Amino acid sequence: MTARIIDGKVLSDTIKTEVAQRVQKLQQQGMTPGLAVVLVGEDPASQVYVRNKAAACEKAGFLSRVVRLPADTTQQQLLDVVQELNQDDAIHGILVQLPLPPHMDSGLVIETIAANKDVDGFHISNAGLLMTGRPLFRPCTPYGIMKMLESENVGLRGAEAVIVGASNIVGKPMAMLLLAAGATVTLCNSKTRDLAAQTRRADVLVVATGKPGIVTGDMIKPGAVVIDVGINRGTDGKLVGDVDFESAQKVAGAITPVPGGVGPMTIAMLLVNTVEAAERALQASHQPA
Ligand code: NDP
Repeated sequence: MTARIIDGKVLSDTIKTEVAQRVQKLQQQGMTPGLAVVLVGEDPASQVYVRNKAAACEKAGFLSRVVRLPADTTQQQLLDVVQELNQDDAIHGILVQLPLPPHMDSGLVIETIAANKDVDGFHISNAGLLMTGRPLFRPCTPYGIMKMLESENVGLRGAEAVIVGASNIVGKPMAMLLLAAGATVTLCNSKTRDLAAQTRRADVLVVATGKPGIVTGDMIKPGAVVIDVGINRGTDGKLVGDVDFESAQKVAGAITPVPGGVGPMTIAMLLVNTVEAAERALQASHQPA
């Protein structure tokens, strides 16, 4: 068997076109969605991510504002910037690029973002809403994965879904979304005793550890849908995922490539969350005070 490749580039382009249409509708009503991205310091990977996000925003017709702050910015200065953006009516989505320099408390910074502008979906109240089945913003990476599964017509009701990696930004919200879709969810972490025994049960396997090649073909159930979230730089400088693609594609029914899989979907869903925030702001402005 050779797995079907789930092309995140093609699907994300379709989603971006839909977003651009929604932006046009908003503009006809006098509103342009605005996304502010705050970058502290000069981490090279973060700079690339921020550049890509800003370019995608501009292409979709958004107002894109990038706030670049030096690495020695104090936490209070960053909080002040976030507060100003909270008050700015031209900005509907705020994203603080992680990781922040070590002298900053990321949790506190994220909690300072207004929950209704938290397009990353990391704010504690958005995490709580997701957990209780009333999501306002779904975190972009798991949200993009749900769109990929939907586009592949993967039946999730009663399916065994196994997630390897339990971070707040990928694994945990992924578990909530799959659970809400009716899957039976197993969430693995670095202490999981027999990882292969877990992954081999999976109809849907999501891998997000940052450990290249942690999942190999022999750990995959024949015909399973495999979603590789990992982005790792190989020794040859090329990007690789967490799944050993060579061996996995011989067993899986469908698989996402790296690059060109989950990565482009994450940016597309950031645009979706921002346009939704702008639509909600417009609706709220029409309601009597
Ligand atoms: P974190 O480092 O925050 O979390 C990693 C998770 O993997 C932890 O829960 C950890 O367990 C678990 N883990 C580590 N080793 C093992 C192991 N041997 N067996 C089972 N679980 C293990 O990573 P992120 O979630 O932020 O990112 C994961 C990967 O996804 C990275 O490569 C990152 O670059 C990529 N990424 C890609 C995105 C995209 O758009 N494509 C977006 C976000 C991330 P424990 O909790 O026990 O420590």
